[in-house]
Amino acid sequence: MNESALREAICDVGKSLYDRGLATGSSGNISVRLDDGWLLTPTNSCLGRLDPAHLSKLDWQGRLLSGDAASKEAFLHSAMYEERSGAGAIVHLHSTHCAAVSCMSGLDAASCIPPLTAYFVMKIGRLPLIPYHRPGDPKLGDAIRGPARKHAAVLLANHGPVVSGTTLDAAVNAMEELEETAKLFLLLRGHDPRVLNEAQIDELRQAFRLDH
Ligand code: ZN
Repeated sequence: MNESALREAICDVGKSLYDRGLATGSSGNISVRLDDGWLLTPTNSCLGRLDPAHLSKLDWQGRLLSGDAASKEAFLHSAMYEERSGAGAIVHLHSTHCAAVSCMSGLDAASCIPPLTAYFVMKIGRLPLIPYHRPGDPKLGDAIRGPARKHAAVLLANHGPVVSGTTLDAAVNAMEELEETAKLFLLLRGHDPRVLNEAQIDELRQAFRLDH
């Protein structure tokens, strides 16, 4: 896709996420990698009402090349792109079920949602929990670097998920699978769910050549 098609695609995805309640108010941001920098949704923008011509275009030093001022969460995206050379797009939301899980105590920080379904294993794999930082704290960018090297998605404690994909469609599909699995996880609390075992996860890794 060329840059103008990617700009349109970001706005279409933003509207779809907003219309379905996955992003509310001015929360959430979407980015895509370009040959000469990257595009990000602007600060204080509503994902339901994005304008392709006003998206922020940034270089890899974080300088604004064109468009409106970038989201204050730009550093989350740049840290993930720097650690994941294959990432073509990133979606960050405060979606309700993921945000609810991110507030729970007693989570396994290495894998904070268990392998409940094959599709969760295939699209997300293990989901590390990143300790809480205040909004805009640049230390949060540093905190996601190590986990992002090994994992396409992370969950920010008391905040929400950051999900990367090779393409914008892949990142959005993984984000939606994660939100639905977070909903299942909450529905199953106290029900002693049977999760996929290591042999079943290994079988998925081999059958679908998963790199996580
Ligand atoms: Zn956020």
